Amino acid sequence: MQEKPSIYQQTLDELYVFFANNGAKKSCAEHVWHGLYKEHTEDLNNINGLEEECKELIINHFTFRSMQQVLRQEAKDDTVKFLFRLADGHIIETVLMRQHFGTSVCVTTQVGCNIGCSFCASGLLRKVRDLTAGEIVEQIIQVQQFLNGEAQRERITHVVVMGIGEPFDNYENVVRFIKIITHPKGLAIAPRRITVSTSGIVPKIYRFADLKPRVNLAISLHAPNNELRTRLMKINRAYPIEKLMAAVDHYLKQTRRRVTFEYIMIKDINDQPEHAHELAMLLKDKKEMVYVNLIPYNPVDEHFHYQRSAKETILNFYDILKKHDIHVVIRQELGSDIDAACGQLRSKHMNTVRRKTINHSQNM
Ligand code: SAH
Ligand code: SF4
Repeated sequence: MQEKPSIYQQTLDELYVFFANNGAKKSCAEHVWHGLYKEHTEDLNNINGLEEECKELIINHFTFRSMQQVLRQEAKDDTVKFLFRLADGHIIETVLMRQHFGTSVCVTTQVGCNIGCSFCASGLLRKVRDLTAGEIVEQIIQVQQFLNGEAQRERITHVVVMGIGEPFDNYENVVRFIKIITHPKGLAIAPRRITVSTSGIVPKIYRFADLKPRVNLAISLHAPNNELRTRLMKINRAYPIEKLMAAVDHYLKQTRRRVTFEYIMIKDINDQPEHAHELAMLLKDKKEMVYVNLIPYNPVDEHFHYQRSAKETILNFYDILKKHDIHVVIRQELGSDIDAACGQLRSKHMNTVRRKTINHSQNM
């Protein structure tokens, strides 16, 4: 028997068609959509005005909760990290961040990642599968439900697609996810408050740009020249910096949205003054439209040869970019006491599980 699809996978237009095909009223779709995305409820009895025949159709054709929270860690700065177990047992992570401008959620798009950047915890575990759009939406809903249980009834205002996985290696589902969470009758998250981060899959940047998506694009650059970038990110062999920059130009032209370049600061590897000058040269023809985000590297146990740059080195790098009139910010670190960097909690959790399994089999 085929599994029922998740209700969170559906767009509102698809629900209209579904109810129409089943001889039910259009209002069923709107009621259930309102319940899911305005009330954040999965209890059909709690949805006002939902008729019995609609309830029955939904119960017979869709599933609701597909993942269970297995761990929640709260940091001193109120960052909260969630580990969820998917229906097939795989573990993913989602992070809630409180900033002065709003409440952000960082979502995962794949179980593992095949891009295999040499500094990243997520890439240590090769991709097992893509997440469905419904599973990405559900991360937002479960975090919002957690917030609803807290005193202030805080709303999620921003979404960053920067968790485990390469979003453009799961392109269709990520685009569907964006469509669902931005719908004005649903969660209504403003596109300008969504940022998609990519390691630089050039053909997908063109495709995404041509959708004119009104969301922010972030490019994980991390090095100002091909030699160094290939050492850090082997995807640079397939899509070197010149091709990446041409794709970024196209994105800027199509969307007129700003593009952020992420640059993790790794001690003695990419953080020297000559790297800052080279980066400024690379970006000078588009400096009005782009930002550089300097991110202090978060050490990963398995990548022990990489360390975080010293504070003064980061400030010096920042000053050089500023002198070249490049918009630059140093990313505020959130949740460092709970391993909030990309894939790290999951990686640690998996190691613990692995160690337990090994110990267990040794004891047998
Ligand atoms: N795969 C996408 C999005 C997920 S990674 C991408 O690579 O852009 C999100 C960001 O976290 C990327 O900029 C990535 O380079 C960065 N990152 C990965 N590991 C990190 C670490 N240990 N410390 C700091 N940033 C890290
Ligand atoms: Fe994948 Fe991004 Fe990590 Fe690279 S940095 S391995 S693309 S998740």
